[in-house]
Amino acid sequence: MKTLVLDANQIDVAAEILQNGGVVGIPTETVYGLAADALNGAAVAKIFEAKGRPMDNPLIVHIADFADIKRFGLAKEIPASAEKLAKAFWPGPLTMIMKRTDVVPREVSAGLDTVAIRFPSHPVAQAIIKAANTPLAAPSANLSGSPSPTTARHVLNDMDGRIDAVLDGGASEVGVESTVITLATETPRVLRPGGVTVEELREVLGEVEVDDAVLHRLAEGAVAASPGMKYKHYAPKANVLLLKGSDDAFIDYINAHAADDVCALCCDEDLLLLRTKTVSLGRRGDYLTHARHLFDCLRRMDENPTVHTVYSRLPSTEGVGLAVYNRLIRAAGFEVIDLASL
Ligand code: AMP
Ligand code: MG
Repeated sequence: MKTLVLDANQIDVAAEILQNGGVVGIPTETVYGLAADALNGAAVAKIFEAKGRPMDNPLIVHIADFADIKRFGLAKEIPASAEKLAKAFWPGPLTMIMKRTDVVPREVSAGLDTVAIRFPSHPVAQAIIKAANTPLAAPSANLSGSPSPTTARHVLNDMDGRIDAVLDGGASEVGVESTVITLATETPRVLRPGGVTVEELREVLGEVEVDDAVLHRLAEGAVAASPGMKYKHYAPKANVLLLKGSDDAFIDYINAHAADDVCALCCDEDLLLLRTKTVSLGRRGDYLTHARHLFDCLRRMDENPTVHTVYSRLPSTEGVGLAVYNRLIRAAGFEVIDLASL
């Protein structure tokens, strides 16, 4: 199958492919999604095949209006907390989990009794959902296990020949996947950190829990609240090591370990100080920019076959920093070197 590359004025072409049960890579403000008609189980099954995604990992359903939840009959009931969150953060990088109806095919919910729903803010994403006139199931448009795509080129690198089309809507602005919060538990609980921060969610809802799997390796045999958390994720080919310590200790450690196959995932201020290959996430402390650049940086390092070891700072867990932390700690297989204890 040849993958069509469409631009933003070819929404009607993409919509027709989706209505005929095809799969299209679409831009969103978080990362690019691999979309199919969420109400067509056979179409949704093609997403799993194209990605090589385990069938027990459910998908997010994308809508173009809060009222679409009711219009398409996706949820058993809409909790009051969902209305509050929608007012504050939709359209935007927040996914809400609620009890599903039987309208949601089992391919989407992967056997769970819940459904994850998001209303994206990207104008092209909204236009394609409206033109297809159906909710779109869409996970990130990468091969399972590789970094999420934030440009149409990233999608083609992974998916050329595996999907019908990709719609180019420019680079994703948030750069990491949506925050996932479940409203199906007694206290709302964040299952995955993203562009909407835990601090912001607490301002609207009061008490919000953060699932253990956000910060820590899942215990052997434990059941993941969000099935995606149990899989090896965001894994570049190189060995990623996270360094915990001061800026000076970070620079000194990397320079002491400088070698041809070493690359530092660093900040702009470090570039002149490091004597290794470098890829910068942005200015120190600018977590929004780090999130936007993270996956592109990981892919760029992967494209360099001489890079075998990547050193990075252990990210902050504050604000959007938590989303970067969550991705990098997985990329590093939870390995952290504490520079203060050396
Ligand atoms: P992706 O679309 O690649 O960003 O992955 C979607 C994420 O949302 C995965 O981590 C899924 O496990 C999670 N997810 C989707 N639906 C549900 C659900 N009903 N309950 C819990 N987690 C979900
Ligand atoms: Mg993904």
